[in-house]
Amino acid sequence: MDAAIVTVGDELLTGDTENTNATWLCARLDDRGVDVERVTTVPDRVSDIARVVNEYHAEYGAVIVTGGLGPTHDDVTMEAVAAAFGRDVELHDEAVEWLREEGGYAAEDLVAGTAELPAGARPLHNTEGVAPGAVVESCYVLPGVPAEMQAMFAGVAGEFEGERTYSETVETPEPESALLDRLSEVQDRYDVSVGSYPGETVTLKLTATEPETARRAAEWLADHVEPVDDGR
Ligand code: ATP
Ligand code: MG
Repeated sequence: MDAAIVTVGDELLTGDTENTNATWLCARLDDRGVDVERVTTVPDRVSDIARVVNEYHAEYGAVIVTGGLGPTHDDVTMEAVAAAFGRDVELHDEAVEWLREEGGYAAEDLVAGTAELPAGARPLHNTEGVAPGAVVESCYVLPGVPAEMQAMFAGVAGEFEGERTYSETVETPEPESALLDRLSEVQDRYDVSVGSYPGETVTLKLTATEPETARRAAEWLADHVEPVDDGR
């Protein structure tokens, strides 16, 4: 299973808000063996949201959209997702009930705006906040507030299932450029993919579909690169 993530919000593009939702969702999906192929951030603008959702829905097994569900005029995500699927938004009775019970939005027009979901969508209850989410085909629309997004994702996490992978890391002070021969050799010897992440040292991440394969590859690599001198 593969997936794309679309984070919506002007505040993400100005750097006012750090995009922790994207990182959190990538990690949860990776845990579940789902390949995240794209993370895209778009402004609170119907045409931009609709275009990228439409494109990613055609390309990937699932699309997760976060942000822009609230009752204010700048929250246009539901309208945009509806447009991407050629649907209208309509008042969802169950969502209206939730909003009335929870009482977060007292005024009727706010209730109406917030309970409008793409026609035929499956509503997702917001246990941590007010604005409901929605599922349209394989597109999941979640709130922007991290705690609300995380709780709502937990409710649908079981719908995301891919092939689990297992990773081991090896660290070395050698420069990346010097490691190329050993990185291709470990890939030839074992059925692993190799990621190389330079920082103060280089972290080499070996990923396989069997834990034993990742472990054996990491052992071989650790024997063939200079170890980090941790001062002990
Ligand atoms: P609400 O129903 O509360 O209005 P919402 O779905 O409309 O929520 P937004 O209005 O887009 O969400 O964002 C609410 C807050 O959540 C923002 O002020 C921001 O702090 C945070 N937020 C939104 N998107 C992200 C993100 N991708 N990563 C981290 N925080 C985010
Ligand atoms: Mg917003």
